[in-house]
Amino acid sequence: MLEDVGPGGLSLGRSAPQAGAGLLQAGDRVLLIDAKRRRYLVRLRAGASFHTHAGIVAHDDVIGIPEGSTVTATTGRRFLVLRPSFADVVVKMPRGAQVIYPKDLGAIVIAGDIAPGCRVLEAGVGSGALSMAMLRAGATVVGYERRADFAERAEQNVAEWVGAEAAYTVEQRDVYDGIGPGPWDRIVLDLPEPWRVVDHAVSALRPGGTLLAYLPTINQTAQLRQALDQAPFSLAETVEILRRTWHVEERSVRPDHRMVAHTGFITTARLVVPPTETL
Ligand code: SAH
Repeated sequence: MLEDVGPGGLSLGRSAPQAGAGLLQAGDRVLLIDAKRRRYLVRLRAGASFHTHAGIVAHDDVIGIPEGSTVTATTGRRFLVLRPSFADVVVKMPRGAQVIYPKDLGAIVIAGDIAPGCRVLEAGVGSGALSMAMLRAGATVVGYERRADFAERAEQNVAEWVGAEAAYTVEQRDVYDGIGPGPWDRIVLDLPEPWRVVDHAVSALRPGGTLLAYLPTINQTAQLRQALDQAPFSLAETVEILRRTWHVEERSVRPDHRMVAHTGFITTARLVVPPTETL
């Protein structure tokens, strides 16, 4: 089903679980990975070459081979060739704003219960990394983004990596001013003052719907939690994701010395129907 493959060969479409499985071809995006596991994202073009300090790799040596192969540069150095995973794309793709890291994207999709057919209102959209994760999960996403240049970048990233047919639109607008007609199943926020969206969310979200906010500091998180407490939201929860990689060698199996200690806090809450006095 090659027609379902994104331009980078990344299989993001719901209908194409096997997409991107064929031989590497011109137009595909691939990672060239050196012995030190440094990754270079390259789009294959017939006749082109990829230059690094470790030598030159001819794209024509890569076109037509299966991913997982190793190619040799002019210097004799070897590169493993693989199509990028979604996590690879997120950290390598062009960005205007800081993207949400893969460890948090995964948690947000589950904490926000983002599922096929979900109508999601997302603000701000930034570089579109979170949009891509939610589209991959099958949601329909409408993004609000204050900055025109970021809105455009996010649309380009989504078109390139998820596909031009993705259920995605971005509007250049300020979510603090209000939310257009819903109802929305989910409202997902990655911006500095999400408490300013809580009242809008009460009218725009359907009962039982989820508001999710991603915030870098606990001060902001506490302010959001206060606003949620004063509105008809229930089951509010805040989590952070600590991801520790391990060094695994025969005689030395232990956690790596370094880890990313902090990125952001994920807060979720469900909109409820306020109980009436008679109840
Ligand atoms: N989640 C994004 C990154 C978002 S960065 C990603 O994964 O790529 C935060 C974004 O929120 C910025 O692009 C900023 O312009 C936007 N923003 C800030 N306040 C906003 C508001 N009130 N309405 C809409 N967008 C806003």
